[in-house]
Amino acid sequence: MSRFWSDIVHRLTPYVPGEQPALAHPIKLNTNENPYPPSPRVVDAIRRELGSDGASLRKYPDPTARALREAVAAHHGLRVEQVFAGNGSDEVLAHAFQALLKHDKPIRFADITYSFYPVYAKLYGIEYETIPLDDDFAIDIDGYRAPNGGVLLPNPNAPTGRALPLAAIEALLKANPDSPVIIDEAYVDFGAESAVSLVDTYPNLLVVQTTSKSRSLAGMRVGFAFGDAALIDALTRVKDSFNSYPLDRLAQAAALASYEDQAWFEESCAKVVASRERLIARLASLGFESVPSAANFVFAKHPAHDAAALAAALKQQEIFVRHFAMPRIDQHLRISIGTDAECDALVAALTAIIGG
Ligand SMILES: *Cc1c(COP(=O)(O)O)cnc(C)c1O
Repeated sequence: MSRFWSDIVHRLTPYVPGEQPALAHPIKLNTNENPYPPSPRVVDAIRRELGSDGASLRKYPDPTARALREAVAAHHGLRVEQVFAGNGSDEVLAHAFQALLKHDKPIRFADITYSFYPVYAKLYGIEYETIPLDDDFAIDIDGYRAPNGGVLLPNPNAPTGRALPLAAIEALLKANPDSPVIIDEAYVDFGAESAVSLVDTYPNLLVVQTTSKSRSLAGMRVGFAFGDAALIDALTRVKDSFNSYPLDRLAQAAALASYEDQAWFEESCAKVVASRERLIARLASLGFESVPSAANFVFAKHPAHDAAALAAALKQQEIFVRHFAMPRIDQHLRISIGTDAECDALVAALTAIIGG
């Protein structure tokens, strides 16, 4: 604390990301990173952009990320005006809070959801109400009927992994014709239905996606929003009042190349999904109960073992999983899907901890 702090800084509760341990070979199953590298074309594109002497780095990147947005628009069957690109989807979400959610009524999101949402709400002074998930951790869309200042749902939800069908998202949009509805699809590529197909029909829909999880580019920081051109314009106005160049040259080139290698993307998602089902089965044989997951993580609890104690014991063996010391979920672990070898190491460690 300092007397130089602004009032708002005193009031903030910053988001705490999962640990990035400074170890040579940790088994990192705590931040939902992809266990596989991005397409080799991504690496080539970064090298090409860099050139032999890095001279391209002298110059600012394209502030509009036009080539990237065109490629991603084409990928989703949208127009470029319907696509926004930002420095990770966290930044895209932050701009959406400021650009779209500042209304006279509280916004709504689930009690158990991405823990960045309340952080942004406090940063931007936006009132919110949380709607409890049901006992199976499912979202009941009846809790999100207007009047409200906006609705924000991840699909699949985080950290539960549970997905809503597209019909439920459409019902939500129909129930909220006068509020912005933001669907955060950080994990959609691992088994949920994307709402991008609804963008042309619903002018209040903003779909947010990221290259961090399914495209193995968490280190490049590239996220998107898809929506009506007027919504995208609002995000762009905030961006251009904050940072004109959120995406550097290497990030733009890398993300673009990722969209040019559909086969690599599909193959790596399929591997993660197969490993997820395999891990869920192995955890079940140890007595764990998992929430059905459409994401690249599982949310599991053991009826006889304290989750925080399990996480601490795993950490001793340099295996990192995420534990949230929060009401309703403090007996769960969120375990990112690693390679099969990493998942096997986790299961072996848990077997020893639980058996011992
Ligand atoms: C990981 C995640 C994000 C943020 O991803 P970026 O790396 O900032 O693109 C957004 N929403 C949810 C639900 C996430 O889990």
